[in-house]
Amino acid sequence: MSSLYLHIPFCSSKCPYCDFFSQVGSQEQLDEYVELLNLNIRILQQKFPHNPPLETIFFGGGTPSLLSAEQIGSLLKYIKGTFDIDKNAEITLEANPGTVDLDQLRGYRQAGVNRLSLGIQSLNDQHLQLLGRIHTADQAQDSVIAARAAGFNNLSLDLMFALPDQDLSSLEEELSLLLELSPEHVSLYGLSFEKGTEFAVRLQRGELTACGENLYADQYRLLHERMNAAGFEHYEISNFARPGSRCRHNQVYWRRQTCLALGCGAHSFIADGWGERWHVPSDLPTYRRKLQNGQNACELLESFDRQAAMAETVYLALRTADGLSRKRFRRQFGSFPEELFPDAFRRQAERLKLVDDSWRLDLQGWLLYDHLISAFL
Ligand code: SF4
Repeated sequence: MSSLYLHIPFCSSKCPYCDFFSQVGSQEQLDEYVELLNLNIRILQQKFPHNPPLETIFFGGGTPSLLSAEQIGSLLKYIKGTFDIDKNAEITLEANPGTVDLDQLRGYRQAGVNRLSLGIQSLNDQHLQLLGRIHTADQAQDSVIAARAAGFNNLSLDLMFALPDQDLSSLEEELSLLLELSPEHVSLYGLSFEKGTEFAVRLQRGELTACGENLYADQYRLLHERMNAAGFEHYEISNFARPGSRCRHNQVYWRRQTCLALGCGAHSFIADGWGERWHVPSDLPTYRRKLQNGQNACELLESFDRQAAMAETVYLALRTADGLSRKRFRRQFGSFPEELFPDAFRRQAERLKLVDDSWRLDLQGWLLYDHLISAFL
């Protein structure tokens, strides 16, 4: 199993809560970036000439839908000519409402994209304005209709919760509107105030109020219950899918399988040995210079030893509803997880449940995940 991620670090404008590596880019910068990605594809293939066929490809960002259908098509064609690709590969593109129309979506579909992830974030115009999004709720709904008309039958929608002044009933209203759009997959993210963002500054100045812990927990439980009732499986802390529609690409991350990554700011994971993580520094001029000199733009970020690999395996698996398989863990590391982390298992005994020979967290465990997982690190 192997995967490929392409990072497109450009957006129409910078959202005030976002700490991802992205910047506002001109058409010329986008065109040049596609050329750089082509150079990057060739150099990456030279570094990993025996990579197994790609089973998932993911265009993430930033806003990949700022690239035209022709540009996405040419990148996919070049990837297909360079790497082996499984004939049933999942090919996802992240798109933002307000940056796509029907023709463009048809073009993406014809180019081979078979899964669309739409960054709707909210279906309330006041919230969208607060979040600095460029689209309205109507445009978000229109983009879903256009995606269906373009032939996308695997559609994921993102929605944010825990917004300032958002109460349970307004969240429930937005969720109902979202469910009316009948997505196959939904990602639900609580707003966080990340250091260095405009929102963090506004929070400090008292201009914004963060959602309190109790309301956050109530909102998370409400989302879980409503999504379950609507037939979705809550298969990862923030992700819900209709049966058979889990995101295969993200499962690669949670299972610590190989994912090669291209583009400025991208991270690769190589599953050989205990694992290595590589990254491309978030610095466009350096990225350009290295690639134009025929050099590899990625640098080794972390080479895992056994202990670090074990901790990360636990950390990632407990995010998922499938949990941490005892047998698989023993095959990899020689002992069962509770034998290697006896203190952590004792401290978290209340929240860890053994189901079908896998350790799993319940909903309360997911709510306390950051605190709880520190016992394993
Ligand atoms: S569109 Fe997405 S990646 Fe771009 S600034 Fe907004 S939140 Fe960040």
